[in-house]
Amino acid sequence: MRCKVSSNVWGAQSDLEVKLVFQEMIKSPCTPIPIPEGTVIDRILRTLKEQSISNPDKAAIALSFAGFLSSRGFKAGDRVTLALPNSIEWPVLHLGTWALGGSVVGSSTACKIYDTVYQLQDSSSSVVVTTEQMLETMIEAAKECPSVHTIVYLRSSENRLPDGVIDYKDTITYDPIEKITQVTMDTVCLIIYSSGTTGQPKGVIHTHRTLHCGVEQFRSHWLHEIYPVLGGREEEWFTDHQIVTTSCQHGYGFTLLNVFLVTASPVVIMRAFDGDVYLKVVEKYKPRMLFVTPPIFAFLAKDPKGIAASLASVQMIFCVAAPLGQELSDAFMAHHPNVKYIVQGFGMTEIFASHLPLLLEEGANASGGVPGAYFEQKIIDPGTLIPCKQGHRGEVLVRGAPQTIGYLNKPEAGKSLFDDEGWVHTGDIGYINERGFLYIVDRMKELIKVNYMKQIVSVFPAEIEGAILGSSRIRDVAIVGIPGIDGGELIRAYVVKSDNTLTEKDVEATVADKLAEFKWITGGVIFLDAIPRNAAGKILRRELRDNTN
Ligand code: AMP
Repeated sequence: MRCKVSSNVWGAQSDLEVKLVFQEMIKSPCTPIPIPEGTVIDRILRTLKEQSISNPDKAAIALSFAGFLSSRGFKAGDRVTLALPNSIEWPVLHLGTWALGGSVVGSSTACKIYDTVYQLQDSSSSVVVTTEQMLETMIEAAKECPSVHTIVYLRSSENRLPDGVIDYKDTITYDPIEKITQVTMDTVCLIIYSSGTTGQPKGVIHTHRTLHCGVEQFRSHWLHEIYPVLGGREEEWFTDHQIVTTSCQHGYGFTLLNVFLVTASPVVIMRAFDGDVYLKVVEKYKPRMLFVTPPIFAFLAKDPKGIAASLASVQMIFCVAAPLGQELSDAFMAHHPNVKYIVQGFGMTEIFASHLPLLLEEGANASGGVPGAYFEQKIIDPGTLIPCKQGHRGEVLVRGAPQTIGYLNKPEAGKSLFDDEGWVHTGDIGYINERGFLYIVDRMKELIKVNYMKQIVSVFPAEIEGAILGSSRIRDVAIVGIPGIDGGELIRAYVVKSDNTLTEKDVEATVADKLAEFKWITGGVIFLDAIPRNAAGKILRRELRDNTN
């Protein structure tokens, strides 16, 4: 099937024909772009050097941090865990690590010793950078992780630091390294923990090639498909202020940060989401576009009249990470005539954003968008694996240059993510409409999307089940997500007791003692005689969700 799109979405190429081969696969309708040459760090440092008149020492600070790492024996292939909230030091830390051929590992600041030990051991990190919230946890966790030889503390107060902990301020006084060595497109640069479609969290591996493609796809998409429709000139894309408020621990926040480093845009990095501060920042810096997640959008939509003045500059709001309610979006638009587009993308840690929006008509669009420049997509029947026809629901498969090369230390797990032809099985159910737009309608995989401090955080049932089953008072457990508020889900535990005196509070406390706050039981504990499982022992989560409320 062929369809003709007549609009000015593609600027000069307004009569572009889009081929939509629904029976097999859909290639990206976006402006084609080549695979970038060179690594992300080359690209960013080049940009920073070009900017050197206004910012003489930005690149030098990153290379000083590399000098510090080098003095600690850090070498190519080594890893730095960043257990930090968003901060302006992120670029120094990740670029400095990359400059020596190392990779950064994201770790939430809400983690407890149990989850931290798992990630440090699995990633064999040798250096950890952290802040006040996590320092004690890190010191304790590092005792069980012999690979960790250096802990750096960001934003120290005047208080004396515990023995062996290094003040970040000292790390950037080192002589900058002279040359970036041993960094190729195949060098691993980023590891983010995610469970994929099933099981325990696994380290998703990205290389300079996959990250650079993810960054370039996003940059190019905004430049070619979005900005012209908003009436922006190319050079304005580089001078408009951008706000990073989603977590840099997540693929979305980290990609955005690097896109804005590549475009040398002025960026406001918000440490954590605070509604009043956010509105003041938007009012002051007048961005044309906002990059948000559903909880942040829900905050904006709660009092659309009251905040109209703060959002006067905003023409487009882009949301990704979880579904966005159409009703909320429509209600919001009614009060913000200047906001012409509320659009979504679709992605996952393993692929960054495979789908990005096209601004075909004004309004709120419930679609996850179209495949970005490097991606192709198909929808298959999960039972027969046969491609579905247009409009029919099935599992969403995507394939493209930004996709992960696999999971750290778990080659077997990679085999269930990719098929023989390299398609990534997203574990999401969706369909494609007659214009080739993707709509996500359900999830096959075991994943709970929690609203934690206005961020959407992925939580993996198997991890919580593992922590609970450590208690001798519990015979069996199943964790499921139930509908919550503001785009997030709540976590519910179904428990079979082995000790009759066990209470709901005991189960909640078992989780709270071991795991980060966003993994706590928020949707109640229900006691059952048995957890429903299929013949292979797999928990029938849908049955639990559908039969209890
Ligand atoms: P993560 O790897 O933590 O980024 O989670 C990826 C998952 O988030 C996807 O597989 C989807 O289940 C969900 N997701 C991301 N974007 C959207 C969206 N626009 N609509 C619905 N679900 C989404």
